[in-house]
Amino acid sequence: MGFKAAVIDLDGVLVLGNDAVQGAPAAIKRLRELGLKLRFMTNNATRSRRMLKKYLFENGFSIEEEELMSSAYCAASYLREKFGNGRVFIIGEEGLAEELDRAGFDLVADEGADFVVVGLDRHFTYEKLAIALRALKRGARFIATNEDATLPTESGPLPGAGSMVASLVWASQKKPDVVVGKPYLLMFEQALKELGTKAEETLLVGDRLETDILGGNDMGLYTVLVLTGVSTRADIENSGPDYKPKLILDSIAQLPEKLGEIEI
Ligand SMILES: [Mg+2]
Repeated sequence: MGFKAAVIDLDGVLVLGNDAVQGAPAAIKRLRELGLKLRFMTNNATRSRRMLKKYLFENGFSIEEEELMSSAYCAASYLREKFGNGRVFIIGEEGLAEELDRAGFDLVADEGADFVVVGLDRHFTYEKLAIALRALKRGARFIATNEDATLPTESGPLPGAGSMVASLVWASQKKPDVVVGKPYLLMFEQALKELGTKAEETLLVGDRLETDILGGNDMGLYTVLVLTGVSTRADIENSGPDYKPKLILDSIAQLPEKLGEIEI
């Protein structure tokens, strides 16, 4: 085998809505027994690591907070590392606020912010957009948790964080200074730093070609697409080389036994 770690996407890989993917909890257990260090990664910034741990536990997964990387946590870590502290205006939900608060930032409700951090906000309003715009005009930095256009649900797609980011981009005529989520590399870089492994000895397991696989390939990880989520075999055939996974599996449940067959 030779792999030392795996970075695993959540939605469409381990969970579908409010159910675990069949066989996924056992597969994670087996990957641990095989000695792999694990990081679980999601673009979704609505839950903090504390909230994600609880949600995954309820779905049958034993995962530590330290193993979880959401774009909310990574945005907070990035800002703390780069700027130390400051005032933040958030377009986003409780989980994003919790991570920024835990990282020591002052959460403010007006345009006197040093940073505007934008994630999925199901209570998005004109007023929030106006405050964010005024903050950017005064020189605040613009951080997007991710640019996902939509959020897949059982009853069809809903607007994703990228839809909120796009309205602020349009209003301000300014692009984000940083986009944290996949396919951008910040979360992958942070994962490798925490894992202490090289890209080529690290697996990336995801369900979406244009975020997981594109970013994973760009980072040099060994990319595995599972077919339990968004992307299909037809999507792979219709996409360019940057989007092609190294391995395709019906489900993450097959990954532990497959690993013995792969030479890196
Ligand atoms: Mg996914």
